[in-house]
Amino acid sequence: MYPKPLQNLIDVFTKFPGVGPRQAARFSFFILRETQGLKAVLTAALKEIERQIGFCGHCFRTIEKETAGKELLCVFCRDPKRNQTQIAVVEKESDMQTIEQTRAYQGIYHVLSGIISPLDPDSPKKIHLRALYERVKKIIETGAPCEVILAISTTTEGDTTALYIERILTPLKDAHPQLKISRLGRGLSLGSELEYADEVTIKNALTNRR
Ligand SMILES: [Zn+2]
Repeated sequence: MYPKPLQNLIDVFTKFPGVGPRQAARFSFFILRETQGLKAVLTAALKEIERQIGFCGHCFRTIEKETAGKELLCVFCRDPKRNQTQIAVVEKESDMQTIEQTRAYQGIYHVLSGIISPLDPDSPKKIHLRALYERVKKIIETGAPCEVILAISTTTEGDTTALYIERILTPLKDAHPQLKISRLGRGLSLGSELEYADEVTIKNALTNRR
C-alpha cells in the first residue's frame, strides 16, 4: 500500500525490539518528512558504525576497530591488571557498564548479547554460549583457577539462562574442580533486572555471590 522503498524502511523498523508495524510506519514517516538534516546524519552514523565498530573477539563487547589492536580485543580483555580468569557473564553490554560503575569488580566479562526465553527453543543458539564454553575451557585447561559469575537478572528468563549455562559448564566443572560458578543472587531481589539495580545493591550482590 505504501511505495516500495518506504515499505522497505517500515519493514526494517518492525525488526527493532518492541516496535510494531504502526510505530514502524510512524518512524518512517518521521524520517521521510523531516527537514533538519536527520536523513544525512542517520546515514552517516550507520556508515560509521559499519566501518568502525566491531565486537571484541573474546567477550563480544563493542569495540572501535581502530583502537582494538591487531587481535581486535577490548581494553578489558587486553588489560593484564584485570583478573583474566574471572568472567562475569552479562546479558547485554549496558549491564557490564552498570557493574563497572560500582568499581567493585576487577575481572573480565562475557556479553551474551541476549537471553534464553523459555518460549523460544532456538534462543540458546542465538546467544554467545559456545564461545563462553570455549573461553572457560581454555582457561581451565591451563590449570589456572577460573570463576564464572552469572551476573544475570533474576527474572524467569534470567533464571532459565543461568541454569542453562550452569548445565553446559558442569562437565568442565566435574573434570576441573578449580572452576567455580557463582551467581549474583543475594541482594538482587527476585524478578529484578540488573539495569534497574542501584550501585550499592550490585556491590552487595557481587560481595555476596555464591
Ligand atoms: Zn573483550
